[in-house]
Amino acid sequence: MAIIYKFGSRGEVVKQIQKALNLYPDGIFGVLTKERVMQFQRENGLTVDGLVGPATLAKLIPFRLKKSKRVITDIIIHCTATPEGKHLTVDDFRREHKKQGWSDIGYHYVVYLDGTVHDGRNVDIIGAHCSGHNANSIGVAYVGGVARDGKKSKDTRTDEQKAALLSLLMDLRKLYPRARISGHRDFSPDKNGNGIVEKNEWIKDCPCFDAKSEYIRI
Ligand SMILES: [Zn+2]
Repeated sequence: MAIIYKFGSRGEVVKQIQKALNLYPDGIFGVLTKERVMQFQRENGLTVDGLVGPATLAKLIPFRLKKSKRVITDIIIHCTATPEGKHLTVDDFRREHKKQGWSDIGYHYVVYLDGTVHDGRNVDIIGAHCSGHNANSIGVAYVGGVARDGKKSKDTRTDEQKAALLSLLMDLRKLYPRARISGHRDFSPDKNGNGIVEKNEWIKDCPCFDAKSEYIRI
């Protein structure tokens, strides 16, 4: 279920695509953007169709991890508590988290449905994702974690998200060799620091799969 950016698409990722192509980033995928995407695809041995799917996106916007200046003892996995199949972006979470009174998005990395990884909060800044454990941790979230009914918690990870999480964690492991990798629920997440989300049932399950055992070999 890859997300494809194409003629007519709008938003923050389109802006990033335009910046990567040295175009004015107005966030609207128009004729010029399409032409430049095709040129880029031609030059990089990609299928020349003017559609920006995961393969083109990965070449256009290579994701680079920055090592935190903080001491990192824990890498904590979350779900964003988004209903299955719903595509939300870092901008959406940033807006939502700011509404809760936070300075910025709570997570450091967000994995979209299509398996692309996006920067959230600057890794040098303490996150807001796991009460009592934010100071020395990195917060990683995948978009999802709730069934389509919007109520029950569910491991909604797409194949692309599973692959992306694995490779992100392997890269993070290189930066933080001794950090523990666990899920939010391994920290008895009865409180999340804001008094709101813990009322919801899903928080007890976050990230809705057993991250500790799934990633034990990383
Ligand atoms: Zn969580």
